Amino acid sequence: MKIEKKYHIALNDLISYLKNSRYLTNHNVELAFRNIPRHKFVPKSELDYAYYNEPLPIMKNQTISQPGVVSRMTEWLDVKNGQNILEIGTGSGWQSGILSYLVGEGTVYSVELHPELVKFAQVNLRSLKIKNVHVILGDGSLGYLKASPYDRIIITAACTEIPLPLLEQLKENGLLLAPVGDTSQSLILLKKTSVGNIEIKNQSNYVFVPLLGKFGKK
Ligand code: SAH
Repeated sequence: MKIEKKYHIALNDLISYLKNSRYLTNHNVELAFRNIPRHKFVPKSELDYAYYNEPLPIMKNQTISQPGVVSRMTEWLDVKNGQNILEIGTGSGWQSGILSYLVGEGTVYSVELHPELVKFAQVNLRSLKIKNVHVILGDGSLGYLKASPYDRIIITAACTEIPLPLLEQLKENGLLLAPVGDTSQSLILLKKTSVGNIEIKNQSNYVFVPLLGKFGKK
């Protein structure tokens, strides 16, 4: 069987599974999953598992997130065409690619701590001719002031608490999504309003690699 056909079947199976288990409910997010194929974002050694609903090792002891977690987080983030988005923890670049598809004419800034992963993500994104993602080497716990304020901020590593600079770089009425907690995390979706931050959603029992850096895990 041709390799692309094999991936196509595996992707369809994964999408059916995610829909049946309600991790994927939004048609545009499904289109993003179809247009930003995960097998372009995993190391060669993991290609056979690209469409398993599992996190997979990339480099530097980091992982590409589990598809069900990426679909759920992407749905919660409620991205609109033209928005300005900040992601902390680029890793493989897959989540950035998904966001770039949904944001259309908007822009995704994604900050990653490890130079090797910045390179890996850039190569992966370039292979799909994605132009509206800027991968930045740096400590994402400080945000990325230069391109702020953001309509949406997503953190893809576990934090003990939400780094203050990120809340400051969020627009009023903007949404921020982060896994917060120690050994296991709750996904928390916040909306910034003129009267403070409102928690919109909170769901427990997720496990992410730790957010490092100045405002990361101590
Ligand atoms: N979104 C990724 C998965 C990321 S795993 C994907 O789709 O593949 C979390 C990533 O956060 C790792 O790559 C890790 O190196 C990075 N990270 C951890 N602390 C960080 C920090 N302070 N700033 C930027 N990146 C950080």
